[in-house]
Amino acid sequence: MFSIINPANEEVVTTVAPSSLEEVDEAIARSNEALASWRDVAPGDRANMLRRFSDVVRDHVEELAQLEVLNAGHTIGNARWEANNVANVLAYYSGAPERLFGRQIPVAGGIDVTFKEPVGVVGIIVPWNFPMPIAGWGFAPALAAGCTVVMKPAEITPLTAIRLGELALEAGIPEHVLTVLPGKGSVVGQRFVDHPDVRKVVFTGSTSVGSTVMAGCAAHVKAVTLELGGKSANIIFADADLDKAAATAPYGVFDNAGQDCCARSRILVQRSVYEKFMELLEPAVKGVVVGDPSDERTEMGPLVSRGQFDTVRSFLPDDAPIAFQGSCPTGPGYWLPPTVLTATEQDRAYREEIFGPVVVVAPFEDEADAIRMANDSEYGLSGSIWSRDVGRAIRVARGVESGNLSVNSHSSVRYWTPFGGFKKSGLGRELGPDALDAFTETKNVFISTEN
Ligand code: NAD
Repeated sequence: MFSIINPANEEVVTTVAPSSLEEVDEAIARSNEALASWRDVAPGDRANMLRRFSDVVRDHVEELAQLEVLNAGHTIGNARWEANNVANVLAYYSGAPERLFGRQIPVAGGIDVTFKEPVGVVGIIVPWNFPMPIAGWGFAPALAAGCTVVMKPAEITPLTAIRLGELALEAGIPEHVLTVLPGKGSVVGQRFVDHPDVRKVVFTGSTSVGSTVMAGCAAHVKAVTLELGGKSANIIFADADLDKAAATAPYGVFDNAGQDCCARSRILVQRSVYEKFMELLEPAVKGVVVGDPSDERTEMGPLVSRGQFDTVRSFLPDDAPIAFQGSCPTGPGYWLPPTVLTATEQDRAYREEIFGPVVVVAPFEDEADAIRMANDSEYGLSGSIWSRDVGRAIRVARGVESGNLSVNSHSSVRYWTPFGGFKKSGLGRELGPDALDAFTETKNVFISTEN
């Protein structure tokens, strides 16, 4: 049994039985059987079912959000956004079944057409940092494309995924079309990789596990989408609106207690305004409201687990170069204050993904130096550029090797635009119009018109 812990007070919320290998194989077999009828549901009917699923999720936003506060320590405001995101993503992809267009290609002696066929059973492996959105980004386009889904939530955060599975049935999605299988990565996740009837794996998590998943999929020539880690740069030029850049920087990295693959965890500041920026940043960091995640005013909750707390703490030894810190509750719960380090480019805190409320700040000289420093990372997921010079902002955006950039803002995830990483941050794109391609195979059919 997995004990599910409330990270805000370390109390056991409930227990969840992990799926055995036999149960996983049984679920994959049923999912494979269900594929035949699900892929043949008329496009308009499949669209209606997804719309109903979206509506049912929307009706349960508050329940799902409260569950996430309890299970993952997300602030209630974030958790409501996350539950709504699942409903939005389902609604967006409910427009897809009638629009899975193929092509008609000119040929001699007949007609050539292409079809977008569902790839088959899809295995989705979800991490603990955003249990609801990451699940929805996988299952919504997969179901829309006519695939069936087996999905494994993270060991420590299975509650909302289990509830979403129940809501799918309530909404009329047929049995075995979306199956949630809580359990261990080494058992359930690994089986998705190894089982020949799972034809596609969507993995979100660490780069180390992601690369073993990819290697396992290679053995079966199995398609894989990877959304992995990040160490994104928030680049602030001297000509930026420094007040706004400093006021928003904490929220670009400390949201979800920094447990965000898109966290702008390296703030790069042009040297000529470095001191001024740090003066502005200090009150902004100290102003982040850290506390009870169920309180509407809270902006940052606890870390998700004792293990993650210990990992993040390892980046904060006694002699860590702390510039300043915010505050956090004391007592039970996995609490750490928002922390700003003045690390150098060689430091572990500058180079490794911390996945906690710790940001490093470093100066750069000019535009070329900013791009060099931003790209001096094995990751390339996200990032921000602050400048009033539009030309420069665009040049830098084109120069930074990263999948999702924002100028004079920190937004990077909209369900109707593509999301994914360069380099070791991942492979493939989720969300937006192109995500459907990850769940379909193109089939070419030639029809002779000769007698
Ligand atoms: P993790 O890689 O340990 O686990 C992710 C998922 O993979 C979990 O469900 C886990 O049970 C499963 N898993 C573990 N071993 C497996 C195996 N051998 N085969 C198949 N599945 C296995 O990562 P985590 O600790 O859950 O999440 C934190 C990491 O995820 C961070 O590094 C973060 O950057 C990354 N992440 C990236 C994104 C993104 O979109 N790029 C999103 C969220 C998290």
